[in-house]
Amino acid sequence: MLEFTYTMPTKIIAGRNCLEKNREVLRNYGKTCLIVTGFRSSKLNGSLEDVIDALENENIKYNIFDKVEENPSLETVEAAYLENKDKNIDFIFAVGGGSAIDAAKAMAILFRHHITGEEMLSLKNLKGIPLLALPTTAGTGSETTPYSILTLHDEKQKRNIGQKIFPEIAFLDARYTLNMPYSITTSTAVDAFTHLAEGYLNTKANLLSDTLAEKGLQVFGECLKSLVKKDCSLEVREKLLLASTMAGMVISQTGTSLPHGMGYPLTYEKGVPHGTANGILYPGYLSIFKDRTKLNRLLELIDVSSIDELSKIFHQILEFEVILTDKEIKTYVDGILSNEKKLKNHPEKVTREELTMIYKTMITK
Ligand code: NAP
Ligand code: ZN
Repeated sequence: MLEFTYTMPTKIIAGRNCLEKNREVLRNYGKTCLIVTGFRSSKLNGSLEDVIDALENENIKYNIFDKVEENPSLETVEAAYLENKDKNIDFIFAVGGGSAIDAAKAMAILFRHHITGEEMLSLKNLKGIPLLALPTTAGTGSETTPYSILTLHDEKQKRNIGQKIFPEIAFLDARYTLNMPYSITTSTAVDAFTHLAEGYLNTKANLLSDTLAEKGLQVFGECLKSLVKKDCSLEVREKLLLASTMAGMVISQTGTSLPHGMGYPLTYEKGVPHGTANGILYPGYLSIFKDRTKLNRLLELIDVSSIDELSKIFHQILEFEVILTDKEIKTYVDGILSNEKKLKNHPEKVTREELTMIYKTMITK
């Protein structure tokens, strides 16, 4: 029997100048807002100024926390809360890449429950104060996922905090991504692709997530050749942002799979950007599928003839450097073998030898 659930509570407002055109929706969320953003980019690409303008025009007071680092830590989330806990914050507006949005999700919980970061990690089913998101990268899809991935230095790892916080609204305006450097554009674009692929080739995939994944893969495929040619026009960036948000909608149903679990140590230990860390594991990951029906359809949708061709494209567009020793590979394989969730999301049984091979055949420069 056809059996599934589908939840997507985030309202999506897309288009050039969509925040300015729809700023009256901000009134629904209260009188005082905390803007959460990274150190620099939102000041340079105009997104922070536009959020401030929209709030001021709606007579909403605001404070700014602009210290979210890449791969944000629990300490940063707590710092934002401690700095602003006495300011009657009604809602949060996250402006930036996945790091700002993920950090803001965890902050939303602290502002609602007035608890420590440690307590947030140990309690279940916590809600947050309302969160609005304006993504300025096209990759994580965090604006349409319930996940918050934080760096937990005490545990020496990055992981999902295990709460479900969907933003109330995602404002999609690709103009803010126009000046993103090529290396961040490609790494984040590959992250979006890996969400679509891991959601599509997933035990939990269902009719609706596959419908989104197939369209998202097709849209991503339309951008791939442009990325190779370094054509990052606004039209290409709009498609990438759309693919990224659709990919978020897919993984919000399915979760991600082996490459995401295996890529986290490459980011935490080796500093490889998140999307690149997943993408370089794809030659081995795709080759372990015994049933190739959906894999072949995926390649068709992105208009790539083989796993080998996709690897060559990723080799060309991604900028990185990483070398692993046999000892490191063994440690990382032990890590993914203890990650039940990611193993469960992979639809076939997977062996230690196959996981080792995925690291050994990773794309290198
Ligand atoms: P990011 O870490 O948010 O940002 C990477 C860099 O890009 C930063 O230096 C940032 O600068 C800069 N940047 C952001 N927007 C820019 C723009 N428009 N122009 C120029 N530079 C820009 O990168 P991300 O890939 O979007 O997010 C990665 C994080 O998201 C990871 O922690 C990953 O684990 C997580 N993630 C979450 C989900 C989810 O579902 N929640 C899914 C996948 C990944 P500033 O710091 O100055 O802003
Ligand atoms: Zn990802």
